Amino acid sequence: SLSDRLTATFKNLRGKGRLSESDVNKTVRDIRMALLDADVALPVVKDFTAAIRERALGAEVSEALNPGQQVVKIVNEELIEILGQHTRPLRLAKTAPTVIMLAGLQGSGKTTLAGKLAKWFKDQGNTPLLVAADLQRPNAVTQLEVVGERAGVPVYAPERGNVGGHDAVGPTGEGTRSYGDPVEVAEDGIQHAISKLYNVVIVDTAGRLAVDEALMEQAADIKDAIEPDEVLFVIDAMIGQAAVETAQAFQEGIDFSGVVLTKLDGDARGGAALSVAKITGRPILFASTGEGVKDFEIFHPDRMASRILDMGDMLTLIEQAERAFDKQQVAEMERKFLAAEDFTFDDFLGQMAAIKKMGSFKSMLKMMPGMNQMREQLDALDEREFDRVEAMVRSMTPFERSHPKQINGSRRARIAAGSGVQVGEVNQLLVRFGEAQKMMKQLAKGGGIPGLPGVTG
Ligand code: GDP
Ligand code: MG
Repeated sequence: SLSDRLTATFKNLRGKGRLSESDVNKTVRDIRMALLDADVALPVVKDFTAAIRERALGAEVSEALNPGQQVVKIVNEELIEILGQHTRPLRLAKTAPTVIMLAGLQGSGKTTLAGKLAKWFKDQGNTPLLVAADLQRPNAVTQLEVVGERAGVPVYAPERGNVGGHDAVGPTGEGTRSYGDPVEVAEDGIQHAISKLYNVVIVDTAGRLAVDEALMEQAADIKDAIEPDEVLFVIDAMIGQAAVETAQAFQEGIDFSGVVLTKLDGDARGGAALSVAKITGRPILFASTGEGVKDFEIFHPDRMASRILDMGDMLTLIEQAERAFDKQQVAEMERKFLAAEDFTFDDFLGQMAAIKKMGSFKSMLKMMPGMNQMREQLDALDEREFDRVEAMVRSMTPFERSHPKQINGSRRARIAAGSGVQVGEVNQLLVRFGEAQKMMKQLAKGGGIPGLPGVTG
C-alpha cells in the first residue's frame, strides 16, 4: 500500500544521516557559478560558499528533499539572512525635520531617487523639501527642479545670482569647479525647512564617475554641517564587481547609514546587493526600479535572494516538496492511529516539526480527523512550550525515543541535563506521553475520547 511504501521510504532516508561531501561539493560548485554570473564580488563569493559548505555538511538529511534541493534551500536561507540581517525602517528625527542626505557616484540615480523619496514621504502625509546641493554641473539644479515638480515637492536651490561659478580647492590641491558652495546651500536649506515647517529634508549631492577625493571630502563636509538622520549610499545595481571597491570608499569617506540599490528594472541580477550588504554591514533600505517617480519600493531580501540565485523554479519545487512531505507525515500519523501502532517520540518530533511549519496547532488539527473533539483543550496549550519539549526529545537517544517506558532515572537525569530543564519536567513529559499513547490506542480501537492526559476527572 501507499502507506507502507511511505514508511519504507522514511526508513531509508533516516538511515542516511548527514549530507555527503560529494552531494554538497557538486551543488556548491553550481552555486558558485550562479553567484559569479550574478556579479557578486569574488571575495564575497568565496566567503559565502565556504560558509554554505560548512552548514550543508553539518546538516541532517532532510526527509522531504533530495541533497541538491537541500543545499539550494540552505543557500537561499543564507542569502536572505545576509541581505536582510540589518534591515530596518528609515530612521526619523525625534524633532522635525528629518534630514536625509544622498551620496553616490554620478549617474547612480541620486537625483531620481530624491524625487521618489520625496513623493513617498508626501504620500504618507509628510511635508518634504528637496535641497539642491549638487552644484557640480550647471544643469544639476534644474534636473532636481524637474524631479521636484513631478513629485509635487518644492526644491530649495541657491539663488541664480549665486550660481556664478568659482573654483573651490579640494584637500588634494586640485581645483573642483563648482557653481556655489554646496555646504552653505545644504545648511541654508535646513534652516529654510525649519522656518517653513517642512518635516523632511532630502539633500541631493554631487558625484563623479569614479571615486574622487575632493568630492568625497565635499560630501563629508555637507554631512558634518547638517548632521543628517540618514546618509543613504545610492548604488547602481549594474555596477557589478566594482561594487565592493565603491562601497568601501564611500563607507570610509562618509560612513553612510543605509544603502539604496537602483536600476533593478534592468538586467542586473543584483549581485551588488550581496557584496554591499556583506562588505559594509549596512542595511539596504530601498530599491529603485525605473526612471519614474513611483518606480521605488522597500527592499525585500527574499525577492533579491531569488533574483541573485536565479533558481526560482527550483525554490518553488522545494516548497512544494516540503508541503507534500508534511501531508505525507500527517497521513502516516493517521495510519498509525488506525493500525494502533505505538506512538513514539520520533513520531512526536515529526508532528512538532510539521506543526511548526504549518504555523499552529489549529491548522494541524484541521488535517487530522478524529482530533476535532480535543480542539479546545489543545488550543489552550502554550505553543512556546513546544521548544522546551522539543529540546527534551532531542536529548533522547533513538532507543529512548522508540522505547519511552525504558527511560529510567539515570536516563531522565541525562535528558534533563542535555536539554537544560529540571528532571521533574522530563518526568511530566513521560507521564503525559504515556497517557497520550494510551489515548491514541483507544481512539484507534474506536473507544471514543478518554479523559485528556493530565486532566483529572
Ligand atoms: P545621479 O547622477 O546620481 O543624480 O543620477 P540620476 O538620478 O541623474 O540618474 C542617472 C540616470 O539614470 C538618469 O537617466 C535616470 O533617469 C536613470 N535612472 C535613475 N534611477 C533609475 C532606475 O531605477 N532605473 C532606470 N532604468 N534608470 C534610472
Ligand atoms: Mg544628480
